[in-house]
Amino acid sequence: MSNIEQTLSIIKPDAVERNLTEDIKKIFIKSNLKITNSKKIHISKEEAAEFYKVHQARPFYNDLCTYLSSGPIFVMILEGEGAVALNRKLMGATNPKDAEPNTIRKLYGISIDKNSAHGSDSVENAKIEINFFFKD
Ligand code: UDP
Ligand code: MG
Repeated sequence: MSNIEQTLSIIKPDAVERNLTEDIKKIFIKSNLKITNSKKIHISKEEAAEFYKVHQARPFYNDLCTYLSSGPIFVMILEGEGAVALNRKLMGATNPKDAEPNTIRKLYGISIDKNSAHGSDSVENAKIEINFFFKD
């Protein structure tokens, strides 16, 4: 039985700035995730605040929104078998120090905030996040 899903991936400013976009895209493609839409954009702090509003009560919320809007990001729709969980697995743990070897965050993350990538955490949130960046 197939379970084709879509999920949202963001390459965060720290990684775009270090020209890691192509290397990170290769990790997804090698794992059979298709990039069905993508764009490089620079969002405002207000847009970052809307995107991350689930975290609004957390102590790191303000810094997180400042950071995501600090430079260009590369957003992608990834599609494939179990795409939501697979993307999370390929990213690794939130804190690069805790991430498994060869995950995006282990390879490229600088710190818990500059952790190079975002990925939707459920099919439901993936739909909301894809719509946020790619509404037609
Ligand atoms: N974050 C942070 N400090 C923390 C926890 C999270 O700066 O103590 C940032 C980090 O960049 C993370 C984002 O907030 O990627 C969203 O947090 P979440 O718990 O959703 O982690 P993720 O789903 O990105 O692994
Ligand atoms: Mg999250």
